[in-house]
Amino acid sequence: SAKLMEGKRGLIMGLANDKSIAWGIAKALGDAGAELAFSYQGEQLKKRVGPLAESLGTPRLFECDVTNPASMDALFEGLENLWGQIDFVVHAIGFSDKSELRGRYVDTSPENFRMTMDISVYSFTAIAQRAIRLMGPGGSLLTMTYYGAEKVMPHYNVMGVAKAALEASVRYMAEDLGKDGIRVNAISAGPIKTLAASGIGDFRYIMKWNELNSPLRRNVNQEEVGKSALYLLSDLGSGVTGEVLHVDAGYHVVGMKAVDAPDI
Ligand code: NAD
Repeated sequence: SAKLMEGKRGLIMGLANDKSIAWGIAKALGDAGAELAFSYQGEQLKKRVGPLAESLGTPRLFECDVTNPASMDALFEGLENLWGQIDFVVHAIGFSDKSELRGRYVDTSPENFRMTMDISVYSFTAIAQRAIRLMGPGGSLLTMTYYGAEKVMPHYNVMGVAKAALEASVRYMAEDLGKDGIRVNAISAGPIKTLAASGIGDFRYIMKWNELNSPLRRNVNQEEVGKSALYLLSDLGSGVTGEVLHVDAGYHVVGMKAVDAPDI
């Protein structure tokens, strides 16, 4: 039988190294037959991202910093010249000054608030504006979010506020683009040890808490996020848009975990 992503072409944004969620998604899509292009932030990441991209076949690499509109324009010009048309974009990008991913949310500075919102929220919309010009019906956009958008999680702070806005933008764009047959979704991943996550205060404790309290009694990994991304980006997800799919070992459904010993 034909592979799920055979004949589909798309862009993966947010690959920094082999621990990146973007890498778990790239491998799942590549295994399913997708043709991939990658964007990376800044020249110093190229030496890491280049060999990874090459290991999945022909490397198609574009430099893109989402704080720079000209850089996003150049990326999509490059994709248009390469393929003419694309089927999907994976946005796995987020950033906040790590000095504000600890302590109190209320102390957030205006500069870091704006930067966090720009890179972690607006960039998905800015990328969508450019991507949809190269997309027809069946096109699909995917971003990455976290439970800190819905509930207060330790140290997530301004990033939680940004993820709440990102999730809202998924719903608004799902409505805007649904008429053109383009779907927009997010995956809300449980905590995974990556470069970005290492900036969050007490991250090891957060991982341990999730492991002990999630219904599956464990954490998820990049590969599992990749498999759910494959579902959302392929025809398997054709009826799904505006969705925030939790890939978190079920953590988001738990109000209070039962004590394993019956009598207390
Ligand atoms: P990562 O550090 O591997 O990836 C973050 C990426 O964002 C990097 O590739 C970095 O280059 C890119 N980036 C930051 N600023 C940028 C800019 N100005 N222009 C272009 N790219 C920029 O970490 P990750 O955990 O794989 O993060 C990917 C996404 O997943 C983020 O949105 C993150 O918030 C989200 N997420 C992570 C977790 C987790 O526990 N790791 C959980 C839920 C959601």
